[in-house]
Amino acid sequence: MNRKINICNECESKYFADTSKMMQLCPDCSHFLYGYPNCVHEFKNERCTNCYWNGKSSVYVNILREKTTDKWTPISISELQKLIELGVSKMTSEQLKIWSDILVKPKKWQEKDYGKEGGGFWVVAIDREETIWYNDIEEGFNISKFSTVGEIDEYWDEQDELQWTINKLKRHHNKV
Ligand SMILES: [Zn+2]
Ligand SMILES: [Zn+2]
Repeated sequence: MNRKINICNECESKYFADTSKMMQLCPDCSHFLYGYPNCVHEFKNERCTNCYWNGKSSVYVNILREKTTDKWTPISISELQKLIELGVSKMTSEQLKIWSDILVKPKKWQEKDYGKEGGGFWVVAIDREETIWYNDIEEGFNISKFSTVGEIDEYWDEQDELQWTINKLKRHHNKV
């Protein structure tokens, strides 16, 4: 079977003409330059077995690629600890008292809507039926109810610093 082979204007690699929506560009370049669907490359012997591209992008396309593959990654425990320390350093003595009562060793709890990608969210404090947890997608501390330990019941996207959340705890309002 002889498939038509084109040469890409951008990266100068050969590619199977029928794998790209554009006449002069390989599927990879047409994706990064014009947003066409990319080939799901599978490299064998330094060529993609699907589109025949050689995997060598132009400098310009590599820059575009880096921008788009700058993917979100879940926060690490050490980064989280820094945020906690920062919050603690800003607490009033009243807030500190509450905090020392409710803090727990950070642990990831599940959350069904947005928690899957990062393997859950870090819970940093538990106060009766409420937890303080860190939303590392929105980058802020949040308070949610829970009914089962290990599961956050409500998703919120507050971008609060830790010390602010203390004032939002139910018991703080109830003065109990
Ligand atoms: Zn190309
Ligand atoms: Zn390919």
